[in-house]
Amino acid sequence: DIIGTAVSLDDLPLREDLRGRSPYGAPQLQVPVALNTNENPFPPPAALVDDVATATREAAASLHRYPDRDHVALRTALAEYLTRATGVPLATENLWAANGSNEVLQQLLQAFGGPGRLALGFEPSYSMHPILAAGTRTDWLPAPRRDDFSLDAAAAVDVVRERRPDLLFVTTPNNPTGQSIDLDELATIADAAPGIVVVDEAYVEFSSGPSACELLETHGHKLVVSRTMSKAFAFAGGRLGYLAAAPAVVDALMLVRLPYHLSALTQAAALAALRHADETLALVDTLSKERDRIAAGLDSMGYRVVPSTANFLLYGGFPRRFADAHAAWQAYLDEGVLIRDVGIPGHLRVTVGTPEENDRFLEVSAALR
Ligand code: PMP
Repeated sequence: DIIGTAVSLDDLPLREDLRGRSPYGAPQLQVPVALNTNENPFPPPAALVDDVATATREAAASLHRYPDRDHVALRTALAEYLTRATGVPLATENLWAANGSNEVLQQLLQAFGGPGRLALGFEPSYSMHPILAAGTRTDWLPAPRRDDFSLDAAAAVDVVRERRPDLLFVTTPNNPTGQSIDLDELATIADAAPGIVVVDEAYVEFSSGPSACELLETHGHKLVVSRTMSKAFAFAGGRLGYLAAAPAVVDALMLVRLPYHLSALTQAAALAALRHADETLALVDTLSKERDRIAAGLDSMGYRVVPSTANFLLYGGFPRRFADAHAAWQAYLDEGVLIRDVGIPGHLRVTVGTPEENDRFLEVSAALR
């Protein structure tokens, strides 16, 4: 018997606003083809694995000491990478990292949200944004996207002017729908925003468009660009997210971060992984082409595919949407293919896998049509 099972969640003196809520949870199932959490399907190259092992071995010799609280070497390496990737000259002081971009976003809400404050996002979007708002007791206002899931910039400006959120979330490419927003539209929305504008660019490497980092020179007093090594960098298990912003934003996050939040092992491993950025990112192109191949395949079968600039696709069943998306999700799973029911009626989301995994997904899609 497990100690303590007589007590249930309802018996605990839990915060009232957390009662009845569900934790974030994509099912973690052992299946032949897992295409459900937008990971990179390609394991890290052997040279990267070796380098991470060597670097963490060296770091292990100093584990009796706390790590660099401000992770300066890592921020410097991230600034160099981001400067190279975007052409925007970013300094160490512009960068900040944490355990996944989820923690970066949580720190932003801790610093700029909180009781009596409002965060706004355009749904459907990343489901963690409202969950992180709830955890920090920030009010959450969902604003709509168009019926085709694209973002209507004029409508966005209107709702932002009217509701004046302390934090505005714009996810581009958007998860789970895949579309990106143009930088000039983003700038217009940011101009209307009275508070902090968080641009969540978790998937930006898979799009051919520019990064919102380009707006930092003009909008750095309010704009924050959040990024992650979980997707394009094939480093989801390493837990490393980061942001680019004005140095003052970094000063704000230092007020809420836990001391030594990034372990010495994480910092060493992430630095090693960054040294192999060119090799890892070389596969992004393959994945983008695979995405387009899956989209064309689904389209030719009569599925309705939402155009995507990310490493996943949202699509509806034959002829336009699934009558019962959850039943369709289960039918894929019965064939050993795990995709995602993101709760959008009539639609499912599939992550781009290896070419073999994608072939299998398309095969099952053809059979289920
Ligand atoms: N933002 C978006 C839009 C995401 O889809 C995800 C991962 N699903 C994240 C942030 C967080 O990823 P991580 O914490 O691994 O960086």
